[in-house]
Amino acid sequence: MPSRKERNHPNGGDFYYCPYCNSAQIVDYGDTFECSSCHHEFEKSDFEDLELEDILSITDIMNIIGAMKKEWGLNHH
Ligand SMILES: [Zn+2]
Repeated sequence: MPSRKERNHPNGGDFYYCPYCNSAQIVDYGDTFECSSCHHEFEKSDFEDLELEDILSITDIMNIIGAMKKEWGLNHH
C-alpha cells in the first residue's frame, strides 16, 4: 500500500505567502487570505489540493468561470 507522498510544501503549517508575487505580507481572513502587495485573494484549501504553480486567485477563478459561462451562453443561444 503506497504511503501518501509527503509534500515539502512552502505554504505548509500556518505560514502562507502569495503564489503570484511571493510576498509574505498577507492578511489572514480565516479560510482565505489576501496579499497586501498585489491584493489578490486566495483560498487556503487550494494550497492543500494544488501545486503552487496551479493556484489561482479567487478573482481569477471567478473571471474564468464568468468567461466559461459567457462562452456557454453564446454557444447555446
Ligand atoms: Zn501577491
